[in-house]
Amino acid sequence: MKYQHRFSDGTDADLPLGKVVCVGRNYADHAAELNNPVPTVPMLFIKPGTAVVPMDEPFAIPADQGRVHFETEMSILIGRRLCRVDEAQAANGIAGIGLALDLTLRDVQDDLKRQGHPWEKAKGFDGACPLSAFVRPDQVSNLQDVQIRLRVNGETRQDGNSRFMLNPVLPLLSYISQYFTLEPGDVVLTGTPAGVGPILSGDRLEVELSDWLRVDTSVC
Ligand code: ZN
Repeated sequence: MKYQHRFSDGTDADLPLGKVVCVGRNYADHAAELNNPVPTVPMLFIKPGTAVVPMDEPFAIPADQGRVHFETEMSILIGRRLCRVDEAQAANGIAGIGLALDLTLRDVQDDLKRQGHPWEKAKGFDGACPLSAFVRPDQVSNLQDVQIRLRVNGETRQDGNSRFMLNPVLPLLSYISQYFTLEPGDVVLTGTPAGVGPILSGDRLEVELSDWLRVDTSVC
């Protein structure tokens, strides 16, 4: 089914799907598990809107491109145009908070990194960004105390908290908006905690955002 931004109560968010701006290595424990240095400024990349699929339906992964890794992330739905904004303006631009899987072709990415090439093929392929519905911002009292969990086939694989982000949400949105104007309907992915690993066809995934959201899905 076609993806549409919506809230967790089922209502349509009435925002067009745009780009997805992502930050790499925003948790020190995840940077360490891939032997990557911790960046001193946010490391940004973009997934096109064509990468987005609904998380709550079984989703497909590329079968012939090597390992596909899950990265479970807190997502931010943008509700207002944010161009070179400060943190207070960024806060006013948040329309929702949700869950995302930043699916990554890890072998392709390793190869691109070795060659010093951009990551787009590893991060922006069709289906690379399953997104959940969003909770409304007034439900989330503290953006920097949100639990992000993933179980694969019943086993906990990721269980992190947004308090460990190197770049918290509001400074991150402000930073992004210095380079890329965020438009209503764009989504920002805030990075993954440690525990990333491969997913395979047939895997069952349970993804949770504190007590606000739970998505049961699978890889088809
Ligand atoms: Zn990521």
